[in-house]
Amino acid sequence: MEFAGKRIAVFGLAKSGLATVELLARKGAEVVACDSKPLEQLPGVAEVLREHGAAFALQGAQALAGVEMAVLSPGVRPDQEIFDEARRRGVQITGDVELACRFLHGPVMGITGSNGKTTVTALCGHLLKECGFPVQVGGNIGNQAVASMIGTSRDDQWNVLELSSFQTEMFRRTRVHIGLALNVTPDHLDRHHTMEKYAAAKLNMFAGQMPGDHAVLNAGNEITRSWAGRVPGRVHWFNGGGRADGGFWLDGTDLMSGDEVWMPASEIGLRGRHNLENVLAAGCACALAGAPLAGMRAAVAGFPGVEHRIEFVRALNRVDYFNDSKATNVDAAIKALESFDSGLWVILGGKDKDSDYRPLRPLLAARARAALLIGAAAAKIESQISGAVRIEQCGDIHAAVAFARAHAKPGDTVLLAPACASFDQFDGFEHRGRVYRDLVRALEG
Ligand code: ADP
Repeated sequence: MEFAGKRIAVFGLAKSGLATVELLARKGAEVVACDSKPLEQLPGVAEVLREHGAAFALQGAQALAGVEMAVLSPGVRPDQEIFDEARRRGVQITGDVELACRFLHGPVMGITGSNGKTTVTALCGHLLKECGFPVQVGGNIGNQAVASMIGTSRDDQWNVLELSSFQTEMFRRTRVHIGLALNVTPDHLDRHHTMEKYAAAKLNMFAGQMPGDHAVLNAGNEITRSWAGRVPGRVHWFNGGGRADGGFWLDGTDLMSGDEVWMPASEIGLRGRHNLENVLAAGCACALAGAPLAGMRAAVAGFPGVEHRIEFVRALNRVDYFNDSKATNVDAAIKALESFDSGLWVILGGKDKDSDYRPLRPLLAARARAALLIGAAAAKIESQISGAVRIEQCGDIHAAVAFARAHAKPGDTVLLAPACASFDQFDGFEHRGRVYRDLVRALEG
């Protein structure tokens, strides 16, 4: 499609929406920038729109006047009435990543899954770079919108993209040369409603693949295992819980590539079994891009991890403090709990996402001294974990850290792994993690 002179609406004016406005303006489109909030409530947006000659419209049917295409940011739900109206009017609807990928040079490695995307995206970028491959990393990670990667993209350079279900659900023709699906476990059910729809949104990452492209799938996850016959690309398996023929798998304490030992697990600095899975997944995808096993092995050892993901903050009086603020759903919190043997003071709670917290019960019972509950979901969590572990209603993170400081014994671990979103008390999980780190660093010995 030629964009010059076409009237195109962009919905959602956060970072990726504004990058889309800029992209379309550069292509000569007449851009209408829409948001459900008025311009006064969107700091800095008016200047960006002025710079690119884009008009503003409050989200509503009037925004569709004369529009040929609507581009949705990942934060905008596609199942709203306005988009049904747009379809009736024959407006083409697309997502911001789908649009940006049309202009991106170089092959795409796409990474999706419920948990581990950022870690694996950063790791894939690191492995490729250390093995001498030109690469740029973006998508969901670090708010690096795909639209703003276009200018630096090159035909000989990999684009490693973290892709959320909100982005992949809009995919039609986006070609992901190597697609990696880490796992599908319950998350975002407040938006996708059912597991079937949520899983379908993730599977859709592969929709635009061509024969000869590759799909890296987790053999240890029930949902991704069932996708073998449903992706156009050639399937390669990784498995943290058993063999994966020809793929990457864990044999006791060794990471394997086919029948060859890739490296011992003891070489990996990241905590937790789930991180061994992440390394297997990244190894499998990067090997398909041509990275050699020996080079990747050396690179894995030098990977520092990503902040807010089981990040060590400090030790005080022989108590370790870890920040896993990014554990924003139950499965991620389970993985965090599994990464420690015992003596845990776990800070749980925040904004509920229609989650079921009962799966936390056995791990809390076996490994935690107490659950320190904070935020809006605290009462629901208490009702679902009560009886499994000592519960302290702390209200907020300040009180939770103070409680842990007062009660933890040498050898214990204080772990922020909330299993919830953060928006009830924070601007996001990074904010929550920073507040926790600051509180912990300020504790006096
Ligand atoms: P995402 O970008 O998908 O949210 P992250 O890499 O940011 O994933 O990790 C989020 C949280 O999920 C981490 O804090 C960790 O507790 C958990 N996690 C990381 N990798 C995995 C995995 N492979 N399986 C399950 N949980 C994981």
